Formats: sequence, C-alpha cells, structure tokens
Amino acid sequence: MTETVDILGLGFEAFFSASGLVSGKRPNLRAAYRAAFRDGRWEPGRFLSRADAEALFPRFRVGLLEAARVASESGEAGTTAKVVFRLDDGQSVESVRIPSPGGGATLCLSSQVGCRMGCAFCETGRAGLARNLTAAEIVSQAVSARVALGWEFSNVVFMGMGEPLDNFDGLAGALAVMFDQSALGLAQERVTVCTVGLPAGIARLKGLGYRRLGLSVSLNAPDDGLRSTLMPVGGAHGLGELAAALAAYPSRRNFALGVNYCLIPGVNDGPGAADGVAAFVRAAGRALVNVIPYNPGTAPIGRAPTEPEVDAFMASLTERGLEARVRAPRGRGLAAACGQLGGPNATVGVP
Ligand code: SF4
Repeated sequence: MTETVDILGLGFEAFFSASGLVSGKRPNLRAAYRAAFRDGRWEPGRFLSRADAEALFPRFRVGLLEAARVASESGEAGTTAKVVFRLDDGQSVESVRIPSPGGGATLCLSSQVGCRMGCAFCETGRAGLARNLTAAEIVSQAVSARVALGWEFSNVVFMGMGEPLDNFDGLAGALAVMFDQSALGLAQERVTVCTVGLPAGIARLKGLGYRRLGLSVSLNAPDDGLRSTLMPVGGAHGLGELAAALAAYPSRRNFALGVNYCLIPGVNDGPGAADGVAAFVRAAGRALVNVIPYNPGTAPIGRAPTEPEVDAFMASLTERGLEARVRAPRGRGLAAACGQLGGPNATVGVP
C-alpha cells in the first residue's frame, strides 16, 4: 500500500502537481486544499467530481495532532496556554499560545523533538535530540491548535522545542506552507525564526529570499568565554562570526534583528555586560534587544532576577543607545516560559 501524503506539508503548487489533475480542475482542488487547512479535514468529495475524489481521497490526509495535555494560566496580558501534542510515533512536542499585550496572540512552535544544542539554561536541551519534525508536523501544530483547541493567533515564532536552523529542510518546508495564500496565508513579517546562532543556517535562511521574515538570535552573554559555557554553540561559532552572518542577513532597509538576552543575575549581568551587548549589536546591525528574565527550571543555574535587577540592566542598555524591552515571562506556572519546554513538569494537565 502506498503511504498517504500529509497535505499540511505541501504548498498548493506541490499539492496540485502531486494530484495529477488537469489544470481545469485547479480551482476545485484549491478549494479542497483551503478547506483542509481551515477545517482540518480532507474532504475532496465536497469539491471534486466523484471519480476524482475517489481517486484522490486515499492518497492524501490531513495529519492533525492529538492534544495529549492542555494547560493554561491567566495573567495581566491574557491567558497563556500550552499544549503537548502527541506525534504518530508516540513522541511529543509542545506549542504555546502567548497573549500579546495589545491583543491578539503569538503561537510558539517546536521544530524538533528535543534539541542537541545543549544550552545550560534549557530543559529541552537536557534531553538531547530525538528527531527532526517534518514540515507537516510543524504546520500541523498551528492547524491543530486552531481547529482542535480554538486557538486564534496573529503571529508565529519558532521558539519552542528545538533549534529551527538545525532542521533546515523542515523549517523551509513549513515556511513555504505558512506563507502560501491558500494554506495558512501568514504575512512574512508575522513569523519570526529564533536561533541560537548557526551562521551557515542564517545564510541559508537568507537564501530562501523571504524579505520580510523576522529573525532573532539568542545572545545571552557579552563575550565568547561566558557564552560558550551557557551555550555550547558559542564554542563552535564565536560572536564575531555570528555578528558577521547577521550583518549579511537583512534583506530590507528597515529590518531590525531581535537579540534575545536571558538575564541570569550573577551570571551574565556583571560589569561590562551591557558594553558587550552594545559591541555585538554594533557589529550585527540594527537590533531590538529582548531582555528575558531567567526562569529557573528543574536544574537551575541561577535564580530569577528581581525587578530592580531587570530595571538596572535595561537602563545600562538604553544608556548605550540600544533599543531594548523586557519580555515579561508568561506561563511560568505551566513550564511554558522560555527554556522550560520539554521539562519534567511539561505535561502537567489541567482537567
Ligand atoms: S534554548 Fe533552544 S537551542 Fe538551546 S537547547 Fe533549548 S531548545 Fe535547544
């Protein structure tokens, strides 16, 4: 028996060509394709002739993911919710819906089962990499969250489990479907790829030619020495190499890179830290620094910063002329905040 193909991993052109239908049937096939993303169902019989539908039905499917656990937590900005999706092979990944202060929400997607980047502050990194997600599994997190859980979102960020540029093919395939007007139809500027900073991956991402796609990089330390102890990738690629890759990335004049800095008091907020961040940003190009207060997980490498500590660090950045903002931690009680996905508390269910 031939394996069915998951429509959620195909852009419309790829789907049309896989269908083998003649071009006159394109509009009807497109309607079936749109409905697959909108309703999460593959129902060619609603749009195509009986003969075409019978021929196509067994060849394709819509691979919705089973929501094994859902938890939510209310805060000032709205409700943060986390879902643990079960994959066909029994593995699981997590997606998080994060409310935006001005309304709307951002959906945080996973790109891998586990991760091999080994960042010291991250629960996911402790488990190592099990496997890459397929493009269909990445897209399905968004479709399943909307169809099965009713989650609406305006933005997508690749900041869940895994390093997206370490699964480049999966990421590239998912982006193509997300931007396809007949599929998810997301505007490029509403999607951000967050990376630990793999220079070759950044160059490949630029090569995809998405001029308005967002990019953010985890800096987390002002120098190579400290950075490589927090993030092993820092030992392989120094800040100079990373800044050069980022400086070559912008594809439009008003592009602003995101620079994420997970603030761990006593670890990366010492004297000279803000100078190091400023030097990096000068070399990398226009950037907005996102200061993320550290969330201690099950194997903490420090404590969460106090508000005065966050304020002091922010002041030291803005004094140096940097654009910076605090990204308020959301979903702490859910183990859904940065660096907490995939940890042992990850599957706390809510009845
Ligand atoms: S922070 Fe991101 S890149 Fe680092 S180990 Fe965790 S999931 Fe991987």
